[in-house]
Amino acid sequence: MPEGDTIWQAARRLHDALAGKVLTRSDLRVPAYATADLTGRTVLDVTARGKHLLTRVEGGLTLHSHLRMDGAWKIYANDQRWTGGPAHQIRAILGAHDRTAVGYRLPVLELLRTADEQQAVGHLGPDLLGPDWDAERAVANLAAVPDCPLGEALLDQRNLAGIGNVYKSELCFLLGVTPWLPVGALPADRTAKLPELAKKLLEANRDRPVRNTTGRRGPGLFVYGRTPRPCLRCGTRIRVADQGDGSRERPTYWCPTCQTGPAPAPGSPPTQRWRSRSRILP
Ligand SMILES: [Zn+2]
Repeated sequence: MPEGDTIWQAARRLHDALAGKVLTRSDLRVPAYATADLTGRTVLDVTARGKHLLTRVEGGLTLHSHLRMDGAWKIYANDQRWTGGPAHQIRAILGAHDRTAVGYRLPVLELLRTADEQQAVGHLGPDLLGPDWDAERAVANLAAVPDCPLGEALLDQRNLAGIGNVYKSELCFLLGVTPWLPVGALPADRTAKLPELAKKLLEANRDRPVRNTTGRRGPGLFVYGRTPRPCLRCGTRIRVADQGDGSRERPTYWCPTCQTGPAPAPGSPPTQRWRSRSRILP
């Protein structure tokens, strides 16, 4: 699952390839927009909003895309072969004179009026990598869901936007609590520092090809993907269990010694599920 830093990198690559250029090729391969033609329009900018990508073009139009699990935008020079997957997985092609951006497996692709972008991203909380970042609002949003397990509250993009499953596990480790701890039980000092810590992690990684939360060479992550290896801090075996609301169970990693709070017993099925307020695409 791409996280905010990955989307930010994708937006920058698209922006560098297309912004300021006139589209000479446009092909949106979803039924609703099969006849839409953006050729002749200049690309104004490409920006990330949480995990959403907004490609704005002249004439007040925005192409909104979301990569969800395995979508990708690839950029090719004219003489390069396209290697992002089989042709039938291509959902969008945007070409300028020297570069072509090809969107593969995009589960969300829609053409909006730029004035209506809020319909696509208006539900998002403050964006950790965005110009509208507002730590106080993020803290207030989290405080409004005291019964929600912290791990799920961090993934809910309405609270704050940009955290995916990797940073969820890493942040809970850095805060010293399990992802199953209800938000309301998090000590106040840690609730207060959580948003800035999350922002620091994403900012530190937005220019890196490989994620690093430990600040060390070698293992770049404290817990994510590390089971059954020992915790870098205490040597206890890292554990993994699913966490989710039933529709989306995510593998969740933690150190049972460094992190306090509820957690599934070894070998038990996933713990009780938090019902989110509604189903909105992260
Ligand atoms: Zn540990």
